[in-house]
Amino acid sequence: MKLSKPLAPSTTIGIVGAGQLGKMIACSAQKMGYKVATYDPNPTSCAFAVSNWYKVAAFNDREALLEFARSVDVLTYEFENIDGPLIEEIAQDTDCFLPQGSKLLLLSQNRLTEKNWLSSIGLPVVNYEAVLSQDDLKKALTTIGLPAILKTTRLGYDGKGQIRITDSTDVTEKKEEINRLLESPCVLEAKCSFELECSVMVSRDQSGTTELFPISENVHHSGILHSSLVPARISQVIRDDIHLMARKIAEEGQLVGVLGIEFFIEKTPSGEKVFINELAPRPHNSGHYSIEACNFSQFDQHVVAITGRPLASIKLLSPVLMVNLLGQDMPLVKDIWQNEKNAVVHLYQKGEAKVGRKMGHVTFLDSTVEKVIKKADLW
Ligand code: ADP
Ligand code: MG
Repeated sequence: MKLSKPLAPSTTIGIVGAGQLGKMIACSAQKMGYKVATYDPNPTSCAFAVSNWYKVAAFNDREALLEFARSVDVLTYEFENIDGPLIEEIAQDTDCFLPQGSKLLLLSQNRLTEKNWLSSIGLPVVNYEAVLSQDDLKKALTTIGLPAILKTTRLGYDGKGQIRITDSTDVTEKKEEINRLLESPCVLEAKCSFELECSVMVSRDQSGTTELFPISENVHHSGILHSSLVPARISQVIRDDIHLMARKIAEEGQLVGVLGIEFFIEKTPSGEKVFINELAPRPHNSGHYSIEACNFSQFDQHVVAITGRPLASIKLLSPVLMVNLLGQDMPLVKDIWQNEKNAVVHLYQKGEAKVGRKMGHVTFLDSTVEKVIKKADLW
């Protein structure tokens, strides 16, 4: 369903998921005069603090989620692991309004479906095979070769649900771990020997206009995003490739809102090659830099798109480095907070600072990429 006119201020945006992404969507929505309702099973979710009202219930509680969806003016989500049939039901329900639809959400819930779809529209992904059993794994290891990565098709995040298989001894040494992963469907991917990783946030509105955010260059530590640098140090050819791919995904996926796309850039003897790693049908950690470094943030743009208004033309205002603050990084925060000029510290107020848990992020702004890179030495 399309909105015939934009949603007015004071109407309510419902967000499924009330973690830090939900919180940052909520802050943008509040700034624009909307009310916000959030939904999450965790009673201490950080986005509740910035919600007009919230509901604590399981993501697969059909009654509760339907009631929530019907009681808000527009529904969105901060995370993709919502029960598939339930989200379809909501998308079809005439009392609910889910402008994003269910297509991209359903595609990106499953790594195999996502890769099949990307391949079907002619976009490059690393070699992969579906793996449902030990036998499949044996066969896939022959076709894909080593090194490879075994991943669960569903529910993986921050590098969880993945096993690296570097050589043939790994298969025996990691047997138990592999067996546990194979209790649910998996996919075996060729390990890409990338030069660098990058990502782009693409936004699209109801009328089909697409706007891209600047591409960020990303560093991951142990499968978790560590930092994003913008502008990315990539060639114009790669930039053009990424832009074409992002537009194609937004159009073929009938995107409304914001979507994050992760890429691997590999250097081959015949030149550089881009592969799509994965999609996130929502604002994404690697787009947090846009809060301070762009005229409109990814969260602002998402709210604009789902409320039926025309997108902003995105401009980068400054070179920027975004560094995530994990639980173990918290002792560094005081020094940055007190002494660093042009650094904006975001703290999500998520409670206990566990190792590996995203507690906040810092955005460093400076006049050149070289200067912002120097800030990374703080880590
Ligand atoms: P998640 O959903 O946890 O973000 P990803 O598939 O993006 O899972 O994996 C996390 C990180 O692990 C990637 O950003 C990349 O650094 C590394 N990685 C994942 N798959 C591959 C691959 N096929 N080749 C090389 N590195 C990979
Ligand atoms: Mg990823």
